[in-house]
Amino acid sequence: MILLYNAVFHKMTSVDDICNAILIDGEKIVKLYSELPPDNLSATRIDLNKAHVYPGFIDTHTHSFEGGLYSLGADLAPAENLRDVLDILSQTQAVSGKIFGYHFDENNIPEKRFPTISELDMLFPDKPVLLRRVDGHSCVINSCAAKSIPWDQKLPSDFNGYLKRRANGRATNWFHRNLDDQAIIKAYGKAAQIALKTGHTAVHTMIGDAHADIKHFNLIKDNLNLFPVDFILYPQITDIDLVLKLGSPRIGGCILADGSFGSHTAALLEPYADDPDNYGILYHTDEFWESFITRAHNHNLQIAIHCIGDAAISQILRCYHQVQKDNPKDLRHEIIHNELTSDQMLDRMAEADISSVMQPLFDRLWGGDDNLYEKVLGKERTSRTNRLRSILNRGILTTGGSDWYVTEMNALKGIDAAVRIHNPAEAISPFEAVSLYTSQAARLSFDEDRTGMILPGYQADLTCLAEDILSSSQIHSIKIRKVIKRGEIFDLE
Ligand SMILES: [Zn+2]
Ligand SMILES: [Zn+2]
Repeated sequence: MILLYNAVFHKMTSVDDICNAILIDGEKIVKLYSELPPDNLSATRIDLNKAHVYPGFIDTHTHSFEGGLYSLGADLAPAENLRDVLDILSQTQAVSGKIFGYHFDENNIPEKRFPTISELDMLFPDKPVLLRRVDGHSCVINSCAAKSIPWDQKLPSDFNGYLKRRANGRATNWFHRNLDDQAIIKAYGKAAQIALKTGHTAVHTMIGDAHADIKHFNLIKDNLNLFPVDFILYPQITDIDLVLKLGSPRIGGCILADGSFGSHTAALLEPYADDPDNYGILYHTDEFWESFITRAHNHNLQIAIHCIGDAAISQILRCYHQVQKDNPKDLRHEIIHNELTSDQMLDRMAEADISSVMQPLFDRLWGGDDNLYEKVLGKERTSRTNRLRSILNRGILTTGGSDWYVTEMNALKGIDAAVRIHNPAEAISPFEAVSLYTSQAARLSFDEDRTGMILPGYQADLTCLAEDILSSSQIHSIKIRKVIKRGEIFDLE
């Protein structure tokens, strides 16, 4: 047994519900103490040196395979110009013979463009290269990759390497599928390490992408014990029979109802502010979603769908609302992202018991004056993005996630962004923000009786911090001292 003492343990049941020592037996918390327990208690005593301890953070939306894989490749976020992009790529180690670059944002470099196919060819004449845009909705490849990928349509004769929509999906899918098992496990292992370092003990991860199969599902399911964090798996396909055969309790993830604001493919009820004829794209018909959602719901699968624009959210919400009305069940279907909403849409979400899987860091990246949201949506609609306060006020199950690799997998930064969201009317309290990554997050996977709080009988999943989130003015930079996962202690100092 282990006694952790000299700390403030935030149980996450209510704001001031704390204790000062806890006893762990194996993987579980067995007892909480408000004062120091007697000396004759036979346990290994660990002095936490006035740490503030929270339940281990749970990131409820990641693409851990891609994040892990790209973390083994080139991070292009620090590039200040196109030369930097090419320099960083040229120094990158191949994974299974392929070069990966991620976090590329043409808006952050003065050239305002992607590298061309010939620029990539000069660096890598005979290794396939994939360079993904920061939102994952477009990419650029080199000639070696273009020759290897089995296209369903011929590439144009003036092809410059840039791909979006289906072709983007096809290319990235080819890169992801043509890796050996060892590289796949290595990618998830890298993801788990990154998660642990940022205080997480569980991570929801999408497997496959919107256009892909789920090659890794069984591989990861059979190897879950290799990783220091719990992975909660989402098979990202719409093949219900296959998902039932796999024994997954949920289906979907970032299966796309629409695209992204950055690519002008998020589906809107009113046109884009900077492109008055463009309403974005609904990727599937109402009939497609009706039939998919009804059948998955009837088979008791929890459904998760990527919805960014108000038209996409309305489309999916209509179907969720209908199945819940016809056949109410506690399945906690998910709207992932849920970025642009009206009051009426949120009322509907509450009525149908839908969960909102939010990425507070989207607001930090794209919210505020003259930023991406305002450019593509205008001021009024920007004020209706990432509406944490309005969503929580309606009692909607709301959780926090990073959409890593899109934003950093870092719960403290997410909590900080939620507390200081650009629109002050939508800001939430630090306690509420922590709950998005702990107690609420545990509910999303039906684990609320097991994780997400510090209580007797709960899994010993804890994050020990040098400072208290609830009173800090610098939440994003609080130091993580230790992470405890199922009773195992990882020192991060
Ligand atoms: Zn998504
Ligand atoms: Zn996603």
